[in-house]
Amino acid sequence: MSYINGETPKSKLRSAIVAALLAAVIFWAAKAYISGLEPISAERESYRLGTVVRLTVWGEDKTALDHALDDSMAEITRLESLFSVNIADSDISKINANSGQFVEVSPETKEVLALAVKNAAMTHGAFDPTIGPVVKLWGIGTKNARVPSDSEINAARALVDYRKVSIHDKGGRTYVAVGKGQSLDLGGIAKGWIADRIAALLKERGVKSAIVDLGGNIYALGESPRGREWKLGLRHPQKPRGEYFAAVDVADTSVVTSGAYERYFEKDGVRYHHILDPSTGRPAQSDLISVSVISKKSADADALCTALFVMGLDRSAAFLKRHLDIQAALVKGGNNAVFITPDLKGCFKLTDGTMALEVLK
Ligand code: ADP
Ligand code: MG
Repeated sequence: MSYINGETPKSKLRSAIVAALLAAVIFWAAKAYISGLEPISAERESYRLGTVVRLTVWGEDKTALDHALDDSMAEITRLESLFSVNIADSDISKINANSGQFVEVSPETKEVLALAVKNAAMTHGAFDPTIGPVVKLWGIGTKNARVPSDSEINAARALVDYRKVSIHDKGGRTYVAVGKGQSLDLGGIAKGWIADRIAALLKERGVKSAIVDLGGNIYALGESPRGREWKLGLRHPQKPRGEYFAAVDVADTSVVTSGAYERYFEKDGVRYHHILDPSTGRPAQSDLISVSVISKKSADADALCTALFVMGLDRSAAFLKRHLDIQAALVKGGNNAVFITPDLKGCFKLTDGTMALEVLK
């Protein structure tokens, strides 16, 4: 018997085994290569800033993603310890405890305060970071929530005035003072400002896709891991959490929604919510039930959301006409009409068929 190439039955079997092994190795290598191209995700969720904070990132290197997330969480904790009115030695608590005097603050506190004052001026005080005395008086969202008397409301309201915030730089340090009796509350802007910070931190670490969600205050970093725009839902004001009335397609943009449903208490059949009108010292009697602002800067989106809610539909429409760089979606109570700014047309999709859409002129 002769065998071509000198192969014997034994060596034939051997080469068949080698070929099979080789095929298996190539198959696994190819699979590993393909899955290497598919982004890995990592997530952290934690109760911070008085709400649920969820950070999700996508990339190729799991260890790098984990480090970026741990550092982001640590940064949130650090910033909360500067801005929170519930932490006794925060910059903001120190300013409040020493009203009428200058207090040295960190560069971050200076930055967020300067932005808060800018937004207050722009909205003629519909957003006002010196709302502290009114927030404290009503105690909405705390166990001390109550309906104060008219004289208490008037006394607290008289203290609200962002024009009395002084920011002073000297010798490379910053000092801040509020008027005697005034107190700051950054609840309407801090989450947005921190979201911008965390997005910048993640970008610095090379993260190209991330969702920074600070209690619904969202920054969508880069594009989605599939290389498309993110589709973000706008929370439905009358349905349970997780239900949306519309979606927007965005990249590297923040979406913030404010509504009266977020935090409130009820007394004698009346609902008192946490967005306060600085001009009345009471929960804003708005004809709007939800306001979303879509902006490259989450701090502005956060502050403006609160302001537009306080202003109501007509004043908001007039304001948005003067500020064409601001994109917003406003939901009016009663007939549930949705009003959007003209530039949103291309990326906004109404998903609740019972609502009517109108584009603001
Ligand atoms: P949320 O915190 O639910 O996202 P907002 O961004 O609208 O809602 O902020 C509401 C918080 O901001 C309140 O809990 C209070 O601390 C503060 N606040 C309420 N009314 C105003 C206002 N007119 N201007 C500035 N801050 C406000
Ligand atoms: Mg806000």
